[in-house]
Amino acid sequence: TINVSSSIIRPINKGVVHRICAGQVILDLSSAVKELVENSLDAGATSIEISLKEYGEEWFQVIDNGCGISPNNFKVLALKHHTSKLADFPDLQSLTTFGFRGEALSSLCALGDLTVETRTKNEAVATHLTYDRSGLLTAERKAARQIGTTVTVKKLFSNLPVRSKEFSRNIRKEYGKLTSLLNAYALIAKGVRLVCTNTTGKNAKSVVLKTQGSDSLKDNIITVFGMSTFSCLQPVNICISDSCKVDGFLSKPGQGSGRNLGDRQYYFVNSRPVDMPKVSKLVNELYRGANSRQYPIAIMNFTVPTKACDVNVTPDKRKIFFSDENSILLALREGLQQIYSPSNATYLVNKYE
Ligand code: ADP
Ligand code: MG
Repeated sequence: TINVSSSIIRPINKGVVHRICAGQVILDLSSAVKELVENSLDAGATSIEISLKEYGEEWFQVIDNGCGISPNNFKVLALKHHTSKLADFPDLQSLTTFGFRGEALSSLCALGDLTVETRTKNEAVATHLTYDRSGLLTAERKAARQIGTTVTVKKLFSNLPVRSKEFSRNIRKEYGKLTSLLNAYALIAKGVRLVCTNTTGKNAKSVVLKTQGSDSLKDNIITVFGMSTFSCLQPVNICISDSCKVDGFLSKPGQGSGRNLGDRQYYFVNSRPVDMPKVSKLVNELYRGANSRQYPIAIMNFTVPTKACDVNVTPDKRKIFFSDENSILLALREGLQQIYSPSNATYLVNKYE
């Protein structure tokens, strides 16, 4: 064992630091795919295809028709903290892109085998790029491709024994988490066609998710959950302040979902999928006043000024801080109370129908 008091304090080897930090950005299969899908959305893609081999354990790939990556960025593409989206700290306050930390591709390099194939409108042919564990470009060749980018990751976590074992053991659970995550993007991304397929063994591809990329949240909900689920929802529009509002859909009082708590609840801040445990708790609590047998389905987007919220809280950017969380929760409570109050006509209709 190391004797802490007498040991020398020295810097951790750079490669080790990189691997330690990478594991915080890329927690599991769904966070890896999330980063790639967000990159495609940031690149202005209108079509995103996600392919998995053996539920992602063998490899996964995200193919988009976005702007592509220009050749002068090939060398720095997968280096840690290299990004085209943020130049200076104040930019964080007016952020409209999903990415800004320049960590996803570099983390994926550290945890798996990364290749990229890309072409911008200025190139006649595409380039296939291979990166090593530290994010250095190791090989480059010409390839055939339309404008856009394909990122492929093979053998994710193969160099993190514990997580790799977890990954194999929980592969079905991981897959479920991924489906739910993709649903979130399918719901909120307007005009973006999303397809996700999985191939196991020699079997034919199975389609996990397929959307047409409609322009309204309503149509997206119908695509993802079906018409019968949509007919159990009602629109919510709550004004929180002059610059802050919530829009979306919630279960009608008598028509929740019998499934687990928090299942089929999707929260977004400025169209970014995030975890909002306090909001979810509040929604469940108020819904219980109207319906104690079921849980509500909730799909809610908070529109807030970018400077009033901080998404740079955790490396996976799922957590969010608001400058005035209390007043948001208070206004939301009042709004939901009206929707779910026993005197509400909708409730009575549903109750006795
Ligand atoms: P971030 O998204 O935080 O900038 P990433 O590591 O995810 O960091 O990506 C690094 C950079 O690579 C991005 O800033 C972007 O310029 C480029 N990039 C990554 N994926 C794509 C893509 N699918 N299409 C176009 N450019 C991309
Ligand atoms: Mg990114």
